[in-house]
Amino acid sequence: MSTFKAPRGTYDLIPPASAAYLAVRDAIAAPLKRSGYGYVETPGFENVELFARGVGESTDIVTKEMYTLTTKGGDQLALRPEGTASVLRAALEANLHKAGNLPVKLWYSGSYYRYERPQKGRYRHFSQVGAEAIGAEDPALDAELIILAHDAYRSLGLRNFRILLNSLGDAACRPAYRAALQDFLRALDLDEDTRRRIEINPLRVLDDKREAVQKQLVGAPVLGDHLCEECKRYHEQVRELLTAEGVAFEDDPKLVRGLDYYTRTTFEFVHDGLGSQSAVGGGGRYDGLSEMIGGPALPSVGWALGVDRTVLALEAEGIELDLPPATSVFAVPLGEEARKVLFGTVAALRRAGVATDFAYGGKGVKAAMKAANRSGARLAVIAGERDLEEGVVQLKDLESGEQTPVPLDGVVEAVRARLG
Ligand code: AMP
Repeated sequence: MSTFKAPRGTYDLIPPASAAYLAVRDAIAAPLKRSGYGYVETPGFENVELFARGVGESTDIVTKEMYTLTTKGGDQLALRPEGTASVLRAALEANLHKAGNLPVKLWYSGSYYRYERPQKGRYRHFSQVGAEAIGAEDPALDAELIILAHDAYRSLGLRNFRILLNSLGDAACRPAYRAALQDFLRALDLDEDTRRRIEINPLRVLDDKREAVQKQLVGAPVLGDHLCEECKRYHEQVRELLTAEGVAFEDDPKLVRGLDYYTRTTFEFVHDGLGSQSAVGGGGRYDGLSEMIGGPALPSVGWALGVDRTVLALEAEGIELDLPPATSVFAVPLGEEARKVLFGTVAALRRAGVATDFAYGGKGVKAAMKAANRSGARLAVIAGERDLEEGVVQLKDLESGEQTPVPLDGVVEAVRARLG
């Protein structure tokens, strides 16, 4: 072990386990790529103000969890705690919203940083795949995104997840609800911090996980009862589209989520095998965010799915992904001349798309065969001096032990035929 360890709240992805993370990222991205979403990549850090304004001054993410830094040039930056604000900033900066058809559909994949109290499923560095549809107000878009996340989880084999759905209303109906909720909350017995939250963002008090708070929230006004006709109609259409596609969801009138920018549709994917950190992904509509960060009015909707927690969900359901083997063929040379020849064979196999590895480090035959078996390869290509004189190599099936000579210039075809 070295003197250093991964920082608290972080962990390393190491083979073979790391292969599942790549597969999860690919599986989440696949339905997006088929649905008109283009890949976007933004910097790992941004101006701290982008998150303060975009995510919300009253959120835990901004007040407690951001990794901030001052550069040598005096700029105030933050490691990104989430993806939406950055992606919208990038889309505005590149004028994507002016370039052609709206919505602008983008997907991303990367690392995010929050200074949280670490526990299983909650890390200070974690990984998300996300999608944003910018510049259109259409219930079909909200439904599309929920269906794509649903399909991604299903394609991984997950079954024990649920979709929680709510509407947070809009600028027309939320203010009246907000005032009614504030009146209700101000009469409760709450600590200083929570009292302050009542004044800044009272909806977030509904999200308080403490039992003592939840007990007092019984009977609190519910947003569903205050939605304006337009929001009601919009939400009903989202629900109808999901139902028509056979995507089951649960109405959750208390779902507000931890970010300030959501309007109308909000949703969360929860997995029942994960204990307290049960949210595997979530998102919603954020019609006001663009204006909050200095852009034009661009109603938008998006989600982010947590890769780490999706991997934990797979483990909880006992799902082993059907991953291609890291190595299909392992080459074992016996002697210097064979080394040179097989090195070329390995390159040819790789170019032909066969995952191939080689006995490096001048190993003796016993150690080399051990390495071949450990690699998980199905076949070994073995060659000694006598084989080369005859223009052949030995193709050995590492499961059955059966060994047959094949012509040196026909190795690629023979291997392909065997691997099927
Ligand atoms: P959020 O941006 O908070 O809506 O989070 C979206 C998803 O990212 C969550 O549902 C989690 O799967 C994942 N996530 C958020 N925070 C963390 C964290 N600290 N550690 C691991 N995963 C996280």
